Amino acid sequence: MKRSQRTIKKELGVRTLIKKFRFYICAPSKGDYARGENRPNVDCILCSIAGGDPNVQQKVVYRNNENMVVLNIYPYNPGHLLIFPIRHIEDFEGLSEEEIFSLFTLSQKSVKLLKEVYHPQGFNIGVNQGESAGASIKHFHIQVVPRYNSEIGFMETINGTRVVVETLDETLRKLRSKASILE
Ligand SMILES: [Zn+2]
Repeated sequence: MKRSQRTIKKELGVRTLIKKFRFYICAPSKGDYARGENRPNVDCILCSIAGGDPNVQQKVVYRNNENMVVLNIYPYNPGHLLIFPIRHIEDFEGLSEEEIFSLFTLSQKSVKLLKEVYHPQGFNIGVNQGESAGASIKHFHIQVVPRYNSEIGFMETINGTRVVVETLDETLRKLRSKASILE
C-alpha cells in the first residue's frame, strides 16, 4: 500500500525529533566514559573522590572513616549509588571481614535511604569485578540502583537510551537531607 504524503511527512518529523533528542540525551553518555573520552586523567576516580580532588566531580552523599557513598555521575536511574571502601582495593577477596561487614551494612542502609526518598519498587544491588565483567572502575564498589515498574518509556524503546529526569544536584540534595539514615 502506498503511503500518503502526509504519513511520510509525519514520519520524517518524528525522525528529526528523535535525532534532536538523541543529541541532547546521548551527548554526556556513559559510552564516552567507557571509551575514556570524558574520563578525568586520574589513576583512580574513586580514590580521587575520596581524596577531594577538585578535578573530579564530587557527588558525595556520605562518608565515614572507612567507606563512602557517592552518586554515579552516569546514573541508570536517579539515586544510582556507588558504595566503596576508601582504601584502594580491587578484588572482592581482598576485603577483610570487618571491611565486608561495614561495606555491606552501609549498602543496606543505602537501600533504606533510597526507599525513604524515592519509594522504588525494586533494586539492583551488585558488583562488577574486572573489565570483562563490565567494570569500568577498578576500585571495588557496590552499585545500588533503584528500579521502578513504570520506567520503560518512549525514548528508551525508540533509542535504547535512558532518560534521567532529575539533575545530579537535585538527587544529591534529596539524599543528603536524609543521610542520617546512613549513620
Ligand atoms: Zn582507588
